Amino acid sequence: MEPLNDTLSRPLKDLRISVLDRCNLRCTYCMPEESLHARGVFLRPQYLLSDGEIELLVRVFARLGVHKVRLTGGEPLLRPGFVELVSRISAVEGITDLALTTNAILLPRHAGALKEAGLGRITVSLDSLDGDVFYKMAGGRGSVQEVLDGISAAEAAGFERVKINTVVQRNVNDHTVIDLVEHFRTTPHTVRLIEFMDVGNVNNWDRELVVPSAELLKKIHDRWPLRPVAKQPLGETARRYAFTDGAGEIGFISSITEPFCGDCSRARVTAEGLFYSCLFSAKGTVLRDKIRAGSGEDELVDEIRGLWLKRADRYSELRSHLPQRQPHIEMYRMGG
Ligand code: SAM
Ligand code: SF4
Ligand code: SF4
Repeated sequence: MEPLNDTLSRPLKDLRISVLDRCNLRCTYCMPEESLHARGVFLRPQYLLSDGEIELLVRVFARLGVHKVRLTGGEPLLRPGFVELVSRISAVEGITDLALTTNAILLPRHAGALKEAGLGRITVSLDSLDGDVFYKMAGGRGSVQEVLDGISAAEAAGFERVKINTVVQRNVNDHTVIDLVEHFRTTPHTVRLIEFMDVGNVNNWDRELVVPSAELLKKIHDRWPLRPVAKQPLGETARRYAFTDGAGEIGFISSITEPFCGDCSRARVTAEGLFYSCLFSAKGTVLRDKIRAGSGEDELVDEIRGLWLKRADRYSELRSHLPQRQPHIEMYRMGG
C-alpha cells in the first residue's frame, strides 16, 4: 500500500489511543491534584469511546497504513474490560505491533492476561527509585515498590524487554537519574529519559525545569561510556545510545531541545474520540459523534485521509518562535 503522506511528506504509520482519562496517580507534570478541583473533570462513561468504537477506529487506521498501535491514557489498566479490548485490537488485520504505556501499578493483576490477549510490548513510567522523590512526583500516590512489582509481573508474563519512561525535572529528580540508569542498565529493559514537556495547561511548565538531554547524556557517558546507535526507523521518538561495556541501551526523548517533528508519523485519538494530528494541537476533530450518527468504516477512512493530507503540524520546532504558551489539551486526555 502507498503510504499516506502529509504536507511535509510524513507517512501515517502510528496510532496512539487514550482509552481513559482517569488515573490512580497524580503526577505533578501531567495531572496535578490541585488542577482537578472542579467536579466532573473526568469523562463520564457515556462520553468515552466504547470497545466497539475503538476497534472500528483501529480498523480504519489499519486501512490507511497503520501497523503500530499504542494504548495509553490516563491509566489504561483502570478501564473496565481493558484486557478484552486488547484482544479485540490485536485481532484487527494489519496491526502487527500493539503496545501499552502504563504506570504499572495494576500490572501484577493483569500482565498475564494481557500477554494472552495479544499485547506485544509494555512501556512503564517510573521517574525515580528514590521513594520520596517518586511520591512527590506522583502527587502523593503509589510507590516505587508497586511499580517494580509491576515490572516483575510483566517479565514473568513474558514481556522480556520493557521500556522505562522517566520524565526528568531540574532539582526534582535529576539527581536520581544515575541511580535509575544503574539499576536498569544490566537488565533487558531500556530507560528513556524524557524532557519535561509543555503539554496541557495545568502542569506549571517552566523551561527552567527542563534538563536538556545533552546534559544528561554527558553525565551518563562520563560514568559509563556510550556510543550512538544507528538512526532508528521513522517514527521512533527516542535517540538511542548503547553502553560500550555491552550493558544495554538508553534513550533520550528531547522534544524541547531537539525536536523530532520531521519524523513524526503519529496520529492520536483521545478517550472521547477526538482525532489529533499533534500532541500540541489546540483543537481535535470529533470522530465519536460521527460514529454514533452512523458513519461507517469507508466514510471514516475518507475523513481521516483528508485530515492527514492537510497535516502540517510541527509545534516543537516552532515552540521557541511562538509568542506565548499555546492552549492545548491535557496529556492525560490526549495520551502521552
Ligand atoms: N498513565 C500512563 C503512564 O504514566 O505511563 C500512561 C499515560 S502518561 C500521560 C504517558 C506518558 O506521558 C508517561 O510516560 C508520562 O511520563 C508522559 N508524560 C506525561 N506528562 C508529561 C510531560 N509534561 N512531559 C513529558 N512527558 C510526560
Ligand atoms: Fe497518570 Fe500517567 Fe499522567 Fe502520571 S503520567 S498522572 S501515571 S496519566
Ligand atoms: Fe509530532 Fe507535534 Fe510532537 Fe512535532 S510537536 S513531534 S508534530 S506531536
